[in-house]
Amino acid sequence: MAKSPTATCAICGKPQVARYRPFCSARCADVDLHRWLGGGYGIPAADPELEDEPGPPLSGPRRDN
Ligand SMILES: [Zn+2]
Repeated sequence: MAKSPTATCAICGKPQVARYRPFCSARCADVDLHRWLGGGYGIPAADPELEDEPGPPLSGPRRDN
């Protein structure tokens, strides 16, 4: 196994900074932290868009994941 000379930030893909590994900056580390704290990712506690959904759209493509 060869070492990875240039590890990249898990958030934005920029080269990592040792101080903020595995991220490139405090900002990206903070972004990741908020994800884990339920800042909107993975924990759909409330989705106003779904509540206001009157029904299936008559036109326009709709992505279903
Ligand atoms: Zn980054």
